[in-house]
Amino acid sequence: MNFELTDEQRQIRQTLTDFAEREIKPHAARWDRDQAFPREVFGQLGSLGFLGVAFPEPYGGAGADTLTQVVVVEGLARYDAGLALACAAHMSLASGHLAGFGSDAQRARYLPDLVAGRKIGAWCLTEPGSGSDAAAMTTRATRKGDNFILNGTKMFITNGGVADVYVVMAVSDPGAARTGISAFIVERGAKGLSTGRKIEKLGLRSSDTAEVILDNVAVPAASLIGEPGAGYAQALKVLEAGRIGIAGWATGIARGAMEEAAAYAKERRQFGQPIASFQAIQWMIADMATRIDAAWLLTGRAAALRDAGKPFAREASAAKLFASETAMWATTKAVQIHGGYGYVTDFPVERYMRDAKLAEIGEGTSEVQRMIIAKSLIKEGYLPA
Ligand SMILES: Cc1cc2nc3c(=O)[nH]c(=O)nc-3n(C[C@H](O)[C@H](O)[C@H](O)COP(=O)(O)OP(=O)(O)OC[C@H]3O[C@@H](n4cnc5c(N)ncnc54)[C@H](O)[C@@H]3O)c2cc1C
Repeated sequence: MNFELTDEQRQIRQTLTDFAEREIKPHAARWDRDQAFPREVFGQLGSLGFLGVAFPEPYGGAGADTLTQVVVVEGLARYDAGLALACAAHMSLASGHLAGFGSDAQRARYLPDLVAGRKIGAWCLTEPGSGSDAAAMTTRATRKGDNFILNGTKMFITNGGVADVYVVMAVSDPGAARTGISAFIVERGAKGLSTGRKIEKLGLRSSDTAEVILDNVAVPAASLIGEPGAGYAQALKVLEAGRIGIAGWATGIARGAMEEAAAYAKERRQFGQPIASFQAIQWMIADMATRIDAAWLLTGRAAALRDAGKPFAREASAAKLFASETAMWATTKAVQIHGGYGYVTDFPVERYMRDAKLAEIGEGTSEVQRMIIAKSLIKEGYLPA
């Protein structure tokens, strides 16, 4: 196993850090307060090549590996988890679905703009009545001549209100259960496509989250991604890879919180000395650093397995589960280290703590990750079938 980043990955991380210190860190608190998605900065990330690191070169990407994309998501989440989530959903989910399962014509039509950040992608699986049990969706796709007619409502869609390209899962064959679900591309401006009420969130307020409503939206049959009925299997594969990104995202939040806590502890004096000299504080930071390292290593293992073409579902779930719980734990400790100042909006750690909670919910809750891991343990005979 190689535990080191390559020179190229180190360089990407450094360039991203320089950009984030300049263009993200000074504004993150305001975007959070105003619930403002920084579209312009998203575009800049695209033009600088960050959104395309892991996409094929013919579409404007850099053709790098999964870990390189994780380096980008982790590096962004360290400063602004909302913007980082917007990028992760755009890259791993929407663009990743098109790159992985789209036809050559679909890739050529959509990927160059998505990779360059000129267009934004959204990925629509969840519905008001179906989250963890995504296959229970009720959005329908009915064939009518050369078109499919989409009807239904998608819930909690990241970039839902700002996207240009939507990947939508819908039931095309109601009798066929999971193999009756297909995936479609819907473009912004399609008649009958709208977004519902603005969803007010606990955290990640610089990320746009919206209901996506499909009211008799006609899409050409050429918008179908892959075979009819392949949509659910595609979505599971997309989620499997997406979890590696979310593991990196959660690790980035934890790292950002640890850095803020350590810096504060060196400045803040009580009983005549910096609180960083108290063993109780040092141990909290030591535990943070250890858990962050472990989360990063689990994430790196899942990414390496994926790039080697080996099964990685359990490893991706383990990375996502551990990194999410690390993010929640570390951000709570970061607030603790700040004392009363951690509880107020003058310091960023309360935002990190609010943002971290989604890691335990999105792209499969922690309970769902444990179910996936347990299923694998059942297969190996550790648990009864
Ligand atoms: C900010 C945000 C962004 C999101 N972005 C997207 C997006 O871009 N695209 C998209 O499609 N979705 C998105 N989601 C949806 C997200 O993936 C779902 O919220 C998540 O999968 C959980 O589904 P749910 O909210 O319906 O919860 P439910 O599935 O109703 O779960 C409620 C509780 O029950 C537990 N539970 C459910 N089933 C079981 C079981 N079998 N055993 C044990 N416990 C169980 C869950 O773990 C959870 O604790 C987003 C959500 C949020 C909040």
